[in-house]
Formats: sequence, C-alpha cells, structure tokens
Amino acid sequence: MTTLTPVLSKNWDRPDSFTLDAYRETGGYEALRKALTMEPDSIVDLVKSAGLRGRGGAGFPSGMKWGFLPKDNPKPRYLVVNADESEPGTCKDIPLMLANPHALIEGIAVASYAIKSNLAFIYVRGEVLHVIRRLHRAVAEAYEAGLLGRDILGSGFDLEVVVHAGAGAYICGEETALLDSLEGYRGQPRLKPPFPAVAGLYASPTVVNNVESIASVPPIVANGAEWFTAMGTEKSAGFGFFSLSGHVARPGQYEAPLGVTLRELLDMAGGIRPGHQLKFWTPGGSSTPIFTDEHLDTPLDFESVSAAGSMLGTRALQIFDETTCVVRAVGRWIAFYAHESCGKCTPCREGNYWMVQVLDRLEKGQGDESDLEKLLDICDNILGRAFCALGDGATSPVTSSIKYFRQEYIDHFERGGCPFDHTKSTVWG
Ligand code: NAD
Repeated sequence: MTTLTPVLSKNWDRPDSFTLDAYRETGGYEALRKALTMEPDSIVDLVKSAGLRGRGGAGFPSGMKWGFLPKDNPKPRYLVVNADESEPGTCKDIPLMLANPHALIEGIAVASYAIKSNLAFIYVRGEVLHVIRRLHRAVAEAYEAGLLGRDILGSGFDLEVVVHAGAGAYICGEETALLDSLEGYRGQPRLKPPFPAVAGLYASPTVVNNVESIASVPPIVANGAEWFTAMGTEKSAGFGFFSLSGHVARPGQYEAPLGVTLRELLDMAGGIRPGHQLKFWTPGGSSTPIFTDEHLDTPLDFESVSAAGSMLGTRALQIFDETTCVVRAVGRWIAFYAHESCGKCTPCREGNYWMVQVLDRLEKGQGDESDLEKLLDICDNILGRAFCALGDGATSPVTSSIKYFRQEYIDHFERGGCPFDHTKSTVWG
C-alpha cells in the first residue's frame, strides 16, 4: 500500500509556511549551504543519478538537460523557471509557490550554482497576482538574508533572481514561446532544435525547468540520490504532486511516490463523491488521453501510463463521475485550446477551430456518425504536424473519448440532444 511522501508539502499545514523563518525551522536552505561546498558538476551528476525527470509534463531527465549546456560557449548562462502553469486541471505549482516559495528559491540557487548561472528568472502566469506578490516578498526575504545576491553565504557565488509576470497566454508555458515573451516579443514557439540548452534566452545557453522540478533539487542534495531513487519506480524515480480535482470527496494535492495508482489516491482522498461512480479521468491534464475505470490500477509513472495509452503529463487527475457528459467535457477542453492557439501553425489554428464547431454540433445532437470520422481525421492532421505540443495535446481528449465513449457520441445524435442533465454535475453545471 503506497502512502503519501510529503517533502515539498511537509510545511503546508503551518499558517506561516511561506515565510523564511518557517522554511528554515524545518531545514530550509541547508541544502544550499551544502551545495555551495560541492563542485558544480558534482551536483549535476547527483541530479542525474537521482533520475529526476521534469515535472512540467514531458518528463525529460533534468540532470541530462543541465548537462547539455555547451562547455565552450562564452555567453552567459541563464536559468528560467517555467511557472506559467496553465494546463486545464494542472494546479500544483501555484499552491507550491504560495505555500512554500522558498523551496523554489532554494532550488533556483542550487540549480544556478550547478549550471554556473548568475541570473535566473521565474516566469509566472500574469493572472495569479497573489502568487506574484508572494514570490516578490520571498525573493526579497532571501536577498535580505544573504541567500541571493552577491557572495551568497560567503561562498563567492553571485545570483540575481527576477520575477517576471506573463500576460496570461497558455502558449507562453511552451518553453520557447516563454523565452520570446521574456525577451519582450509576442510569445510564439520557436523551431527546435536548437533547444534552449544550446540557444535559449537572448540566444544564450538556457535551462528551462518547471517549478516542481527545481523545488525537488534541494531535498535531493540534502538527502542523496539513493534516498530519491528509493521512492517511485526504476525509471520514474522519486515523488511528485498528484492533483486531484473534480468529482472526488477531498480534492487537493497529494504528494506521493511516482507509480502510485488512482485507486490508492482515491482511498486517501475519500473516494468519488458519495453515491457516484468513476466514469473517466485525465492522468496528466487535458492534453493527455483520458482513462476510465479500467485504469484504476495503472501505476502512475511515465512508462506505465504510456504503455496504457496515455501520458503521465502534469499528474493533474481530473475526475469525472457518471453525471458528466464526455462530449461536453471534451468540447470545453477543445474550446480552451482553440482560444489559446497562438495561430502560428495552420494545423493547430484551423484544426482546433473546426473541432469546436463539430463538437458543439454533436453535443447539441445535430451531427451524425460522419462527424466522428471528421473529428478523427482532423486529429490525424494535427498530431505530429503542429509546430509545438499544444496542437498535439489538443487531439488527446478527442481521440481517447471516441475510443472509450463512441456510443455516447452516437446517443447524442440518435436522441437529437444531450442525454445528460448538466445540473447534476457540480463541475460542469
Ligand atoms: P519536449 O519533450 O519537447 O521537451 C521537454 C524538455 O526537454 C524541454 O525543456 C526541451 O528543451 C528538453 N529537450 C528535449 N530534447 C532535448 C534535446 N535533444 N536536447 C536538449 N534539450 C532537450 O516537451 P515540451 O514541448 O517542452 O513539453 C510538452 C509537455 O508539456 C506535455 O507533455 C504536457 O504534459 C506539458 N504541458 C504542461 C503544461 C503545464 O501547465 N504545466 C501545459 C501544457 C503542456
């Protein structure tokens, strides 16, 4: 039986958890002190041997990414923290930054030292003013305490940290669009390669990492790689936030080892809301193919979720019970992607626009079976042909919902309307 592993969330019950004092009382900034006595490259090696994989969704090995920075490039190196969390259902970085901003700031200091960067940015969603204020306050506290700025803790290492607020565009969570936005341009994805590690911010070598990835570094430095690999699975080491939302008795953040199952998480979260049954869920936000009750025992690690036909993504588990119309839920998600498409590439811009029209028609019971083939055809023309992951991700809920709930789509047009009473669903009502 898997249990919770509160590491980043261990202080969250304290009303003052976000303060420097509270963070330090539970060992905060000791990992930075330790890191500053180590060789920078040995920290990169430590993160590699811990097997930390990016927590922003893609799961790319963090230490390997740091190791891609070219050794012979004389330009300055930058660390950019992607705090532009916007994927529907994804809600872990924002609570982490609110409840424990110093975990992120300590991680930034350790990671910057490891990759030999003296300037780091936190690119945070513009809409979350309360988080931006909290980050500014925490960064200021860290400067005042000599944990940022010049000669950190007498080590000779200098680091400036800039909190930069975006303007509220989902595309700016895509790392290269984020870099364009940070440089002052309209946020649109760049062609990769070159990856940011080689040519990122101002064409300089840049590491872009997610908030949770960076915040996970100090505990690894403090406790060692073996401590981390003892949790999770062989290829998906460690712990992570599993964000349960929707029709669940106790929604929230559950910090647990990778490989935990939805059944185990639901046991901890009080189950599906009383009197209802699980219908479908997303393992990692709306850009990952949906799962059903068949997948209650699928280990939530990168490999097992992929083998079962989806992606671990951001571990944003949106739970829907039998009151939810899958056609309506998918329509809402695609309306989001159509709205947020940056318009740079035709498959995503046009494809999402057309999918909204077809889904809207189907949900109202006006379509026919050829519309299902049309949807799948549009998905086929987006997947692998879009400029960035936004387009690919948008196809996931469509193809997977048709795979598992084809009959429900058919019921809509056979009945001439939606068979669901939306007032019964607290999520979509
Ligand atoms: P990706 O696989 O292209 O890249 C992942 C990371 O690895 C990037 O930082 C990239 O630069 C790096 N990388 C990959 N190959 C590399 C190489 N050869 N050399 C150097 N660096 C390399 O994925 P992506 O497009 O960055 O992200 C897609 C994921 O984002 C999706 O799986 C989705 O789950 C997630 N996502 C998250 C949110 C959110 O709000 N957190 C929103 C939308 C999507």
